[in-house]
Amino acid sequence: MTVADTPTRSTGSARPILEGRRGLAPQISVYVFVILPLAALVAAIPFAWGWGLTWIDIAIALVFYVTSGLGITVGYHRYFTHGSFKAKRPLRIALALAGSLAMQGPVITWVADHRRHHAFSDKEGDPHSPWLFGTGPAALAKGFWHSHMGWLFDRDQTNRERFTPDLLADRDILRVDRLFVTWSVATLLVPAALGGLLSWSWWGALTAFFWAGLVRVGLLHHVTWSINSICHMIGDQPFAARDHSRNVWPLAVLSFGESWHNLHHADPTCARHGVQRGQVDISARVIWAFEKLGWAHSVRWPTQRRLEKLARAA
Ligand SMILES: [Zn+2]
Ligand SMILES: [Zn+2]
Repeated sequence: MTVADTPTRSTGSARPILEGRRGLAPQISVYVFVILPLAALVAAIPFAWGWGLTWIDIAIALVFYVTSGLGITVGYHRYFTHGSFKAKRPLRIALALAGSLAMQGPVITWVADHRRHHAFSDKEGDPHSPWLFGTGPAALAKGFWHSHMGWLFDRDQTNRERFTPDLLADRDILRVDRLFVTWSVATLLVPAALGGLLSWSWWGALTAFFWAGLVRVGLLHHVTWSINSICHMIGDQPFAARDHSRNVWPLAVLSFGESWHNLHHADPTCARHGVQRGQVDISARVIWAFEKLGWAHSVRWPTQRRLEKLARAA
């Protein structure tokens, strides 16, 4: 057993890795949730010059980017998927809610897909590896598209019974999971309402809907998806992982530390991903603050000995 095998939970079961196909209505909603923010992001480029972007829009967008972004990195990813720390009930629910504002899927589905990614990383069974089609230029272009967003349209669903029995047994989390469409509507309409109230105009509501709703969701989508695509294709590999995971520094701030992806695959339950000198990891700082406030405990911080061992093995 390698170090990378140990920490990912719930993968040794005899249950199949897939559970049936996605129905037509959820499939259509995947298209809407993916395409609409992407179209806004593309449209934002010409609009940014001279079309109704105000400081109010920027401020609301920033608040929602940080809240939903940390909901994904600290909540969906480091806490729910990997159990990097333990959280008290209010924080646990708040993290599930914050992550749900990113329009990246219901919490349990997201976690099931991501645990499957670690269980099979860059091998057959990984839902979003760029390396499944070969290593030629055309195969890698196809792999990039698949790992970045093509896999989202795959109707085969990860078996939640197999990968996330812990979350399915949690009534709070199940409730947040089932209301995902509600949170997705709220993540677009609340910024619009705030923009309307703060500017006291319908136009302000519309520009906040566009910038702090759609464009903000679209940007975070592509930052998150870049961890699955770019961070498995280019960058450094200072630590021993059994896959193609890499560190990509230009994405460190926007991804709240998730682009230190090589250490993450080498040691998946570690609460800090940016462990080397100068590697900014905002999510780790936030977990540290939760620990200081007494909201989180049993945080799996890296030890020097373990890091040295992982670096030597590389
Ligand atoms: Zn990965
Ligand atoms: Zn992970």
